[in-house]
Amino acid sequence: MSVQPPLERILVRGGTVLTMDPSIGDLVDADVLVEDGRIVAVAPDLQVTDARVVEAAGKVVLPGFVDTHRHTWQSVIRNIGSDWTLGQYFTGIHFGLSRYYRPQDTYIGNLLGVVEALDSGITTLLDWSHNLETPDHSDAAVQGLLDSGARCVFAHGGGASMWAVPSSLPHTRDVLRLKEQYFGSDDQLVTMAFAARGPQFAPGETTLADWALARELGTRITVHVGDGEWGRTGPVRWMHEHGLTGPEVTYVHCNTIADDEMQIIADTGGSASVSADIETQMGHGWPATGRLLDAGVRPSLSIDVCTSNGGNMFNAMKTTISTQRALDNAAVTAADEQVGVRLTCRDVLEFATIEGARATGLDAVTGSLTPGKKADLVVVDTTDLATTPLNNPHGALVYSAHPGLVQTVMVDGRIVKDRGRLVDVDVDRIRRLATETRDHLFEQAARSESIPDARADGTWMPSAASAG
Ligand SMILES: [Zn+2]
Repeated sequence: MSVQPPLERILVRGGTVLTMDPSIGDLVDADVLVEDGRIVAVAPDLQVTDARVVEAAGKVVLPGFVDTHRHTWQSVIRNIGSDWTLGQYFTGIHFGLSRYYRPQDTYIGNLLGVVEALDSGITTLLDWSHNLETPDHSDAAVQGLLDSGARCVFAHGGGASMWAVPSSLPHTRDVLRLKEQYFGSDDQLVTMAFAARGPQFAPGETTLADWALARELGTRITVHVGDGEWGRTGPVRWMHEHGLTGPEVTYVHCNTIADDEMQIIADTGGSASVSADIETQMGHGWPATGRLLDAGVRPSLSIDVCTSNGGNMFNAMKTTISTQRALDNAAVTAADEQVGVRLTCRDVLEFATIEGARATGLDAVTGSLTPGKKADLVVVDTTDLATTPLNNPHGALVYSAHPGLVQTVMVDGRIVKDRGRLVDVDVDRIRRLATETRDHLFEQAARSESIPDARADGTWMPSAASAG
């Protein structure tokens, strides 16, 4: 997609428009006008005659979803760990299959993962890329993002040897080369961030050196904290004591960090990424949504690893709201109080859109249908049997919708999914390359000493790395 077609003037006409912009609100039977890649007007009955029309009657129009943390390279080994714990994931993937990735495997993992995301209405994806053993792997990862047509943040997280916990290997300075080669401007579709191991996954001195490199790079920083037993060691407190907290940092998971650490995140202007599907599946602890809200942090949402869970935001939203409501209901039931609702469907839609934009530093660009922002939007069919009649658009999106209802997806003012079909995407090629890569990885694993029992049929159960 290096040669882009010219931008069109586009009118998205007659939809229920959820702008996620509090000054505009939700509009029924309204239009969205797009020019030169940007939203220029959101209002009922815009008088425009010379634009390409996307009919949105009977549909909901909303900003494209933002996934703030996905290890996209793993798309080709999706669901391999759907019955695994976090400890088994480390053994099977990080200390196992990851080492057999060639650059072309990283490329197709990224392309498959981002195109899958686009198809389901995710227009911005932070690729938390932590299997970049060589510069060639990094180049391939970036190329996969560039070829996808999505708005992406390439968050460089180093390679498997850096993730041999605990490793004192420094984060590669190749990040500086990558920034210069690919990310010269902030005003481009794919930008860069630094994905740091942080105090849970690297010795203190190594973490300090990693942060110094991140600050030399001059990008935002994303770090895992509070996932499982590993997270009870006070990682955020340690970061704060060493001057590593700040508004440029996104804290991924946060399940098991202490209340004072939640408060540090809030007080220093940090953002959070909740991956409710994976956290409830693998044993990270309860999703931290409510505790973050109590501390004053409105979280973003993320998919994390498709090795276990699905890659779309509808699932993530539903698990986020279901788990938090269960926790809230359990607390008031235990206290013999009246059950009420404090987390709404609209809140969760904000987490999936504008809060994601904030957590990736892109809230001036995307995350709401605000005139002046880039045109990243989604049209969801609500005439389907699952969603008709439309009585509550927020509830329909969070509890009833699914990727199959995503009719139109626009990124940067270009339609990448039109009437339910991806535009200019060779799905057969992606499927073929992804399958070849999957076969390569398992052939290599079968010859290895560490994971000779690896199989892609759902029966492989690695031993579990212990929390330490
Ligand atoms: Zn992660």
